[in-house]
Amino acid sequence: MVDFKELKERTKIEDVVSQLGLTMKRSGDQMRGPCPYCRSGGDRALAINTAKQSFYCFNVRKGGDLIALVGHVLDLRPKEAAERIAGTGPLQGKVPGTVPGTIPQRGTVPNSSPSPPRPAFDPVAYAASLQTSHEVLAGLELAPETLSEWMGGMATKGVHRGRLALPVTVAGRVAYFGLAVGGESPSITFPNGVDGRMAIFGADRVTKNGELRLVATPLEVLSVYQNTGETAVCFLTETVSGEQLELLAAVLGARSADLIV
Ligand SMILES: [Zn+2]
Repeated sequence: MVDFKELKERTKIEDVVSQLGLTMKRSGDQMRGPCPYCRSGGDRALAINTAKQSFYCFNVRKGGDLIALVGHVLDLRPKEAAERIAGTGPLQGKVPGTVPGTIPQRGTVPNSSPSPPRPAFDPVAYAASLQTSHEVLAGLELAPETLSEWMGGMATKGVHRGRLALPVTVAGRVAYFGLAVGGESPSITFPNGVDGRMAIFGADRVTKNGELRLVATPLEVLSVYQNTGETAVCFLTETVSGEQLELLAAVLGARSADLIV
């Protein structure tokens, strides 16, 4: 068992930043960069404060110490994160497209669970499997570039086969939902274990303060973006619960924006 206190005394958060291979821009005590775990929120989503030795991810609106940073970026529990930091060598290979949660356990980690860890969903690999050019999409007037930018496309396999698959952040994790493009029912499907009521499509791409445009469907979100460059948001359920309105209020609060419906 790693002594957290002792580990924090001999390790700086800056060391962890370089061990993780994070791309950060430094300004005084502050470092800002993209969050490789969330893969959303832009290139300032992750903030490090070297004076406080702390981090904050604006995607999940959570932060903490260097152990929590490793926990967030590599999707590990604090104990495992501390063990990674205590081990030697880089925490993560800087191979483009690698997903932190899927790197093999290092040999230095004792008492790993007897069953192999469940492979993490790899949004980048999934996005690469989607078709951005498709006659159905042309009919919807969705440009391949728009879909590429949103990491979406027609799914030709898996649970969303025959649907337009689009990513959304649910409880801090990226998941894909499947949007019917030929009038199928239900119009939106989610993979097992993903609660669509906890999602607002487009929310993690909203960076601008001021106004937040709420539209009815994901296709409208994409269309607004394609035509104006603005990010609108929509709920992914037919009815909207109080919980969802609270979620929207949280997005509005974080961006200090006014809602336009
Ligand atoms: Zn993050």
